[in-house]
Amino acid sequence: MPNGKQNYVNGEWVASETGETFDVENPANPSETVATYQQSSADDATAAVEAAVAAEDEWANTPGPERGRILRQAGSILADRKDELTELLVEEEGKARPEAAGEVQRAIDIFHYFAGKASDLGGTVKGSSSRDTTLYTRKEPVGVAALVTPWNYPIAIPAWKLAPALTAGNTVVLKPASAAPGVVLAIAQALDEAGLPDGVFNVVTGPGSSVGSEFIEHEGTDAVSFTGSSQVGEMVYDQATDQGKRVQTELGGKNPTLVADSANPAEAAEIVASGGFGTTGQSCTACSRAIVHEDVYDEFVDELVDEAEAIDIGPGLDHEMGPQVSESELDSTLDYIDIAQEEGATLAAGGNTPEGEDVEDGYFVEPTVFVDVDNDMRIAQEEVFGPVVAVIKVSDFDEGLETANDVEYGLSASVVTDDHTEANRFIDDAEAGVVKVNEKTTGLELHVPFGGFKRSSSETWREQGDAGLEFYTIEKTVYDNY
Ligand code: NAP
Ligand code: MG
Repeated sequence: MPNGKQNYVNGEWVASETGETFDVENPANPSETVATYQQSSADDATAAVEAAVAAEDEWANTPGPERGRILRQAGSILADRKDELTELLVEEEGKARPEAAGEVQRAIDIFHYFAGKASDLGGTVKGSSSRDTTLYTRKEPVGVAALVTPWNYPIAIPAWKLAPALTAGNTVVLKPASAAPGVVLAIAQALDEAGLPDGVFNVVTGPGSSVGSEFIEHEGTDAVSFTGSSQVGEMVYDQATDQGKRVQTELGGKNPTLVADSANPAEAAEIVASGGFGTTGQSCTACSRAIVHEDVYDEFVDELVDEAEAIDIGPGLDHEMGPQVSESELDSTLDYIDIAQEEGATLAAGGNTPEGEDVEDGYFVEPTVFVDVDNDMRIAQEEVFGPVVAVIKVSDFDEGLETANDVEYGLSASVVTDDHTEANRFIDDAEAGVVKVNEKTTGLELHVPFGGFKRSSSETWREQGDAGLEFYTIEKTVYDNY
């Protein structure tokens, strides 16, 4: 049985050449070490890339349906371990058990979805202008894919990059986020047991600046897929394009929900609370701005405050809202709570770390609502990445739409309205890669494209669904004059 804690390189579990390790603490109870992982170096990353390069031809030449069989088997192994993986995810990342269980299920579903696609990668046949010529296209893998992933969806995001990459015949090196690497190593275990050939998938844990950077720089990697902060992602994009690599980056958000005058304030508040406070506000698609028509503003605020105050905070294994992932993420949220007040926003709910035996030591923060927010304030412009919603009052739909778009990000946007024309104007004009009507900003289906506009994305390639496969394939056109 593979160990799941060391690096997984060339089909073996190996220690870092540094001889160093790092501990992952439980954010609900930081004195508890959940697991210890390898503090790897650039040299460890180089070895992983070399293994992936060596495995390229064999995997690319493995028939698609056989690749699919291995992915399907890995998905089923993950399904057998769902409870165990759910708990590991909660202990490392902190989210609530139902959220973690949903995320693990998403990873399983992604493996099964792309397993089916492996028999169906396709190509097209066209009529040639010449006689006796078959003219067609075929899809080939890009080569070695370098994946760098964040901690907030530590199994779903790696899965939605890895499964299409493998399905299309690429080999992969992956650097998981240091805060929650365990579930990625569990994917490696599952693929190993499912019979994935050595070197096809390699995982190296350790700092982004050494391991991640080497994956991006090394001439052996052909495509780079990164999800994380805009700050790091923009650097990664420049680094990868300088090397002439295919690259996609999916980054931060400042996602609005526009509440129109026709909205039921209680329903709108439920939508905003669930988008804003779910996963402790640590979703790239989390709602962080509620832009509310003045006619329903007071009632909406009352309802949203009730929603915030009703949330049961505590360790994710048995509470509704878990902690933030780390002390630095908690501190950053608390800093924004101070900044918002200094800028003149009014605190309407939360704003503190909660008190009580269960939450004394962990990185907990109350679901927080700010009202009287001006869209120019930092709380309305910058990604907070905690359970904080800024409520902004507008006097009509047009002003609301303009406010929704008046940020540098453009990941997800939603509108709550009973007016069909308004809903369609929002769909037309919202500057966001995901637009939702009468739904929360969070929550994605796995078989449709996902990606942002503006600073939320490199806007090069989409992830998930058929679009997700495109990033990992390159088309060849064949003129076969027989
Ligand atoms: P992050 O700090 O940017 O880190 C993301 C990944 O990059 C981690 O694996 C990190 O490693 C690595 N990294 C750090 N510095 C690097 C460097 N110089 N070169 C290469 N890799 C480097 O993001 P995070 O804090 O993990 O995640 C939260 C952010 O992700 C939020 O901004 C959120 O909006 C965004 N996000 C976006 C999407 C989307 O699809 N648009 C989805 C989820 C999250 P270490 O962990 O070792 O630092
Ligand atoms: Mg970070």
